[in-house]
Amino acid sequence: MKRVFVAATLTVLSCLPAIAQPQIDYSKLEIKTTDLGRGVYLLGWQGGDSLILVGDDGVLLVDTSVAPMGDKIKAAIARVSDKPIRLVINTHAHADHFGANEAMAKGGALIVAHVNLRERMAKGQYLAAFNQTIPPSPPAALPTVTYADTMTIHFDGETVQLFHVARAHTDNDTLVHFTRANVIHASGTFGGDGNYPFFDMSSGGSLAGMIAAEERMLSVADDKTRIIADEGDPASSEALKASRDMLATLRVRVQKLIDEGKSEDEAVAAKPTKDFDARWVHQGSFVTGDSMTRLAYQSLKGARVDAK
Ligand SMILES: [Zn+2]
Repeated sequence: MKRVFVAATLTVLSCLPAIAQPQIDYSKLEIKTTDLGRGVYLLGWQGGDSLILVGDDGVLLVDTSVAPMGDKIKAAIARVSDKPIRLVINTHAHADHFGANEAMAKGGALIVAHVNLRERMAKGQYLAAFNQTIPPSPPAALPTVTYADTMTIHFDGETVQLFHVARAHTDNDTLVHFTRANVIHASGTFGGDGNYPFFDMSSGGSLAGMIAAEERMLSVADDKTRIIADEGDPASSEALKASRDMLATLRVRVQKLIDEGKSEDEAVAAKPTKDFDARWVHQGSFVTGDSMTRLAYQSLKGARVDAK
């Protein structure tokens, strides 16, 4: 039951596959384009963030958004480059990150992702956290190049480093580091500055993996690095460090409550996030202190909600 409660409180998550957000009228959404320098632009819309790298030979796109936004993504790209979209990277297998894959592939783009992402897209998914079924994707939408651990892409003078982090936001996350532009797309492993991050245990995510993912990004970041979360403005590495520290502290606190034999409700009642909520919860935040505690408790208890 508690898991159902967590799911209910999380149904407005930014990375929530768009099919569960029927209230969004995509025809009315605009894409906000932000120049991050060295040919990298942030394409932001309500519900997600994509990145593009624009070069002389073409465009590299990180995350295609939901299918109904595909034309708007293309139009936003066309406003900064008349070159074709040559390469797509999907950061993880939530539908707001791969929904317009087929349209991009039909335009000639090569799609790159973690091997687990391709498998989840091909088989279809049941996301218990959202009580949502995503049907198998058509073959044309699937990544044609997959990797397991790391991959380096050399694209128009930029070195794009892809890192897989195990069981973080999902089991198929790719962190994308534009080394020259000093920009990292965090997949869903970071909530931005001011939001608790979310991990989807039904997609193989875990608290420990989230902490490891944020540490991995910190290991390659400096004080000028811009970190791109699922949604919202770029954040600093300082905000990422604060998120990592918060998660690591929360892990210790919730583990202590578990070791003391506390139930999930008792752990929530103990308010282990109390001193964090002012920074990481604000009006409109998707994850509250209590739901963060439930996620942490369930993850540390190993109460993974497997996909059907
Ligand atoms: Zn997500």
